Amino acid sequence: MKTYKIIDSPRQRALRAGDVRYYTGMPCTNGHYAERYTKDTHCVECDRQRSKLRECHKLEKVKAYRKAYRKTHRTQMNETARRRKAVVRNEGI
Ligand SMILES: [Zn+2]
Repeated sequence: MKTYKIIDSPRQRALRAGDVRYYTGMPCTNGHYAERYTKDTHCVECDRQRSKLRECHKLEKVKAYRKAYRKTHRTQMNETARRRKAVVRNEGI
């Protein structure tokens, strides 16, 4: 009967030690030499870049929403600004 030696991977060692991240010494598919998360084996640097990108997309969505809102509520916003200016002028705030 043939016996196989079980290779202890860095992730298995990290899991046993209770570490959140581990290092393989190998680049990820995007070429980062970075640590990986133990729970899902994702590259830390790739995750960081993905979350940055997500924030940018969120910001673009907010900008687009505000632009559309300004377009549809132009008269209402102008009226509000006029009232605020009048209050400041009258009360000298
Ligand atoms: Zn990566």
